[in-house]
Amino acid sequence: MPASAKIHTARPLIRSVARQAPPTIERRERNCSVARTLDIVSDAWAFLIIREAFFGTETFEAFRSALGIPRATLANRLKKLTQLGIFRQAATGSSRKEYRLTKMGFDLYPSFIALMQFGDRWLAGGRPAPLTLVHMRCGFDSHPFVACSHCGEGVRAQEVKYRDGPGAGRHRAKAGRNTRRASDGSRFLLGRPSSVSRALQIIGDKWSFMVVREAFFGNRRYDKILTELAIAPNILTDRLSRLVTNGVFHRRQYQSSPDRHEYLLTDMGRDIYGPFIAMLRWGDRWLSKGKPPLLLTHLACGHDFAAAVVCERCKEPIVAADMRYKLAYDPTSFGALGPRSVV
Ligand SMILES: [Zn+2]
Ligand SMILES: [Zn+2]
Repeated sequence: MPASAKIHTARPLIRSVARQAPPTIERRERNCSVARTLDIVSDAWAFLIIREAFFGTETFEAFRSALGIPRATLANRLKKLTQLGIFRQAATGSSRKEYRLTKMGFDLYPSFIALMQFGDRWLAGGRPAPLTLVHMRCGFDSHPFVACSHCGEGVRAQEVKYRDGPGAGRHRAKAGRNTRRASDGSRFLLGRPSSVSRALQIIGDKWSFMVVREAFFGNRRYDKILTELAIAPNILTDRLSRLVTNGVFHRRQYQSSPDRHEYLLTDMGRDIYGPFIAMLRWGDRWLSKGKPPLLLTHLACGHDFAAAVVCERCKEPIVAADMRYKLAYDPTSFGALGPRSVV
């Protein structure tokens, strides 16, 4: 019997069935501190607001003029970031509200710096870096790097072993996540020139970053990544092809008839590892309730570690309050604040 006939004859039954929960294939997503972090910073507006806050912006009007962001959008993001604990509202005596970064918000700074270094290295397109960091602790211009918290040496992806932590497991994926389109990466480029923006234009889309994560775990084949991420095939295909175009992966055929390909990180792709573990550490610290999903061992020193973003001159961890900036551009042309302390 054709399906259409069945619908006509069995309408009451169909109706009662329709009231029940629709049959869905439950997709389980791996607990991941990077994914939790990206849920916050992969929203381009949220990211830009946090970045301006690192430059000392505090008031609604100052955020608005630096970013050219619509009022309603700004109000919405500030509210959300305050609920998340990234900002707190400060009473100023006047009716003017100020938004100050919390400890949790300031602690995103090393992740931003790690992304910035990546952007400076790979995405400046021959231009000078928009910003030079000066580390006030040692007084030198600084190019921070991501180090092992135990031995202080730089960490490369192939030197790290993973094991499940107390927060390991999977949770049910949010509905609708598989239909999500790639965010418009160009939005990250609004406002001041920024290597962090350039980095996020390529990897700020959450799925793109998750595909790179799988590569760090050694998963390079399409089917394996598809299973691990519980992602829709069309989304995975789209993200892989973007990542190949942007120089993060190169594609290699490992089998013919049927043709199968694997995706290998380029040198540039491997260099995303620093920002990756910096964000992982932030997510572990602030979003995993003391139960990190993943524990990392640095094979070079043999110890468990967390990522530390450190000054390459004095090897001290980078914190926002210790940094000053030399800008290679005129900030007032964006309505933004000039170079100043971030405290
Ligand atoms: Zn180490
Ligand atoms: Zn230093």
